[in-house]
Amino acid sequence: MSDSATSLFATALDQFHRGANLIDLSSDLRSILSQPKNEIIVNFPVRLNNGKYQVFRGYRIQHSNLLGPYKGGVRFHPMVNLDEVKALASWMTWKSALCDIPFGGAKGGISFDPNALEVDELERVVRRFTHALGSNIGPDHDIPAPDLGSNAQSMVWMMDTYANSAGAAERQNVKRIVTGKTMETGGSPGRDKATGQGVVFCLQHWADEVGFDLAGASVSIQGFGNVGGATGRILQVHGARLVAVADHGGAISDEDGIDAFDLTDWVREHGTVAGFPGAMWIDPDDYWRVPADILVPAALENQVTAENAGQIQAQVIVEAANGPTTLEAEKILTERGIEVLPDILVNAGGLIVSYFEWLQNRSAERWDLDDVDYRLRETLWRACDAVVDLRTDLDVDSRRDAAYAVALRRLQVVYEQRGIFP
Ligand code: NAD
Repeated sequence: MSDSATSLFATALDQFHRGANLIDLSSDLRSILSQPKNEIIVNFPVRLNNGKYQVFRGYRIQHSNLLGPYKGGVRFHPMVNLDEVKALASWMTWKSALCDIPFGGAKGGISFDPNALEVDELERVVRRFTHALGSNIGPDHDIPAPDLGSNAQSMVWMMDTYANSAGAAERQNVKRIVTGKTMETGGSPGRDKATGQGVVFCLQHWADEVGFDLAGASVSIQGFGNVGGATGRILQVHGARLVAVADHGGAISDEDGIDAFDLTDWVREHGTVAGFPGAMWIDPDDYWRVPADILVPAALENQVTAENAGQIQAQVIVEAANGPTTLEAEKILTERGIEVLPDILVNAGGLIVSYFEWLQNRSAERWDLDDVDYRLRETLWRACDAVVDLRTDLDVDSRRDAAYAVALRRLQVVYEQRGIFP
């Protein structure tokens, strides 16, 4: 079995226990936090345009609500499965705790290929999924958001379905049932680019710490969707040079720089980076070998593996995706002196601006973009500072382990004060 075939939840648990060891987390808390609180699976039928019914399987895993309502995205992808969603849900708990956001952790998804359906079929899938989840989600209970394969439109369908099932007097009150909505329907300025913006803020913090110059640095990004695209565009504005991009359709490279804005337009029209006229087509197997100072995995989990970790020539790997690095790969990267900025910190921008959207909906306010960006940066930099400080205090090399230790300490304190019921 290759290391990329290891259970994702097993990887998540390994990371959790490493962080827990650093702060001597009690065995009681370890057993509570090493399983999700609730695992909800729904099978629901949808009528397709050919007149046939298809039964879809959806998941909502609620890992922890100790710090606040369950919070996390919904993923639409054929590979979605219980093991994966459990891992992703636990990572949301650590992210909220690490960034001091009063949310818990959850994740959901439907195993299907959204690109294989017509738009009206997709709408019926999303609405029927929301209906099937019923009161398992709620604006102060469990708040979904977009993730891989879903987007702002999917969130609007979820919100509208939920609102129409609520009583008439409640309808305005439940907008915050999902975050990541379009601006017109109650979304927050900056939510669409929040995760990529957060990636760049974390990278800036690291660059300041180690004396690295982002201007002129070369960048390689795997995945050019919501997160990878925004990261590429913002880094370009900061003077970095995008030298390679890979996605599900292929890989491209140009030593002199690929224009991230032109590439965004291309991907919007063609659905993939493949065929982009402003760069050279390369064999996807050669993608990891392309020299770049910064490597940003922003696609799926288990992409940086024992097979390709030895080929990577970057100085730093910035985990914009969730769980992109296998345990074996991380060991190889550490031995090779390549820094890994961990996912639970690096991609928390989406969660943080989701929280801002939820707050705006709750008080019927609209913040402006500068305000959102400023608050996002402050929140993330505080989390980065906490990781740097604890890393020094505990004399630990791994930034991931230090980030887990910060998150778990916060949860530990709350458990100590609240105890468990009854
Ligand atoms: P997206 O659907 O917008 O984009 C996904 C990208 O991955 C696309 O470019 C796609 O072509 C590429 N991809 C898919 N399969 C691939 C494969 N086999 N090989 C190479 N590339 C492949 O998704 P997104 O929202 O940008 O999410 C990307 C990652 O970031 C996921 O791990 C997600 O969990 C994580 N994330 C997203 C958010 C968010 O706000 N959207 C927040 C935190 C973390």
